[in-house]
Amino acid sequence: MSTLEIKDLHVSVKTEEGDKEILKGVNLTVNSGEVHAIMGPNGSGKSTLAYSIAGHPKYDVTSGTVTLDGVDILSMTVDQRARAGLFLAMQYPVEVPGVSVANFLRTAKTAIDGEAPKLRTWVKDVNEALERVTLDKEFAQRSVNEGFSGGEKKRHEIAQLELLNPKFAVLDETDSGLDIDALRVVSDGVNRYSTQGDRGVLLITHYTRILQYIKPDYVHVFVAGRLAESGGRELADQLEAEGYDKYVKAAAQA
Ligand code: ADP
Ligand code: MG
Ligand code: MG
Repeated sequence: MSTLEIKDLHVSVKTEEGDKEILKGVNLTVNSGEVHAIMGPNGSGKSTLAYSIAGHPKYDVTSGTVTLDGVDILSMTVDQRARAGLFLAMQYPVEVPGVSVANFLRTAKTAIDGEAPKLRTWVKDVNEALERVTLDKEFAQRSVNEGFSGGEKKRHEIAQLELLNPKFAVLDETDSGLDIDALRVVSDGVNRYSTQGDRGVLLITHYTRILQYIKPDYVHVFVAGRLAESGGRELADQLEAEGYDKYVKAAAQA
């Protein structure tokens, strides 16, 4: 079993007016085989949490720890984090002009495994992974994220997730901008990944819609830079009915 552990994480971002604290003491433990949904209103710091785990240079960890099986990941480079078994799908993925999907995936796989995958099986694996997310073979020749529709970006991310098969995946707003068919394809992919490989998932969203397809083991309410409440699936139903209001008010009074 593997464990991703976040302890009392404080993160600031550099702004023109100086440093601004966004994460104010996040505590969360994700074990392999568990799907955790983090839900919260816009601007609460959910993406900041994802970027901090990813090692984005704009986000400055001022205190706290993030460990994977007891090993500090905050001192690792972005590449080292990927090799350690972390996968991060971002709300706003970057374009990589001139690099095809096929080459991008092969480079990522090689970096993580420490050796290049065997070409013949790899091409087959890529084609199958694309097919599972209903992208055709020709998609492999396109430049990464260049001119991709919202749905194509997310499908590509999920194909990547299944091919790289990391220990933990942090998925930030994987559901945003998806129509119902794409939402199902993406959710099926996340479910295959998490159940077949006994992997851990941190699913960040502000809609409960995706939770009709991906059944989280735990649901957390994220407000004003920290977790305000944790529970099971019923918490998502409560949020659907009542919204975040109660938690936002309580956080404002704290
Ligand atoms: P969420 O993903 O929950 O919507 P974010 O993590 O994107 O929230 O943002 C949380 C807060 O931090 C917001 O007030 C946002 O404006 C601020 N913030 C995040 N990233 C930056 C940045 N790079 N520069 C300035 N402010 C930022
Ligand atoms: Mg499970
Ligand atoms: Mg966000």
